[in-house]
Amino acid sequence: MDLKSLIRDIPDFPKPGIVFRDITTLLRDPEGLRHTIDLFTQKILDAGLKADYVVGMESRGFMFGTPLAYKIGAGFIPVRKPGKLPAAVHSIEYELEYGTDCLEMHQDALQPECRVLIVDDLIATGGTASATAQLVQKIGCELVGFGFIIELRDLQGRKNLPDVPIITLVEY
Ligand code: 5GP
Repeated sequence: MDLKSLIRDIPDFPKPGIVFRDITTLLRDPEGLRHTIDLFTQKILDAGLKADYVVGMESRGFMFGTPLAYKIGAGFIPVRKPGKLPAAVHSIEYELEYGTDCLEMHQDALQPECRVLIVDDLIATGGTASATAQLVQKIGCELVGFGFIIELRDLQGRKNLPDVPIITLVEY
């Protein structure tokens, strides 16, 4: 199945000159959704990645990370924008093109002995995934790899990530 044909290109979103890769059209297609999750699972297993937890970033990381966790027999842990999680959190600030952003995860979500796979819908500069990796590694967890549905290769986000396997399904 051609997953790219189910991903919609939206020119000039969220600002002029950016082509946004819209995955809502992939999610709404029953066969496309099933194929995406099945293929994602297969690639993670073929790479030999074994995780106790999938950590996914708000909000599109939830949409692919939770079904993947279910399929590989792992738990799912949400990483969220500030002020959304109800219990005590670890926070990390990271640089954007203009300014900074912040991500949070519950303090009791992970323990040092956990094996963790980080999942998001898309890697662009790698800033979001890199910040999440720092949150996970600060706790002392073993980061076993990253999974993304889409990779924007020109932005070379991989260079900003720790040296662990990176699984992707679609590249631009
Ligand atoms: P990065 O931190 O790697 O520069 O950006 C990745 C984050 O931005 C991901 O959480 C992803 O959801 C979001 N993102 C950036 N550009 C796009 C895009 O074109 N399509 C989608 N679906 N998400 C994007």
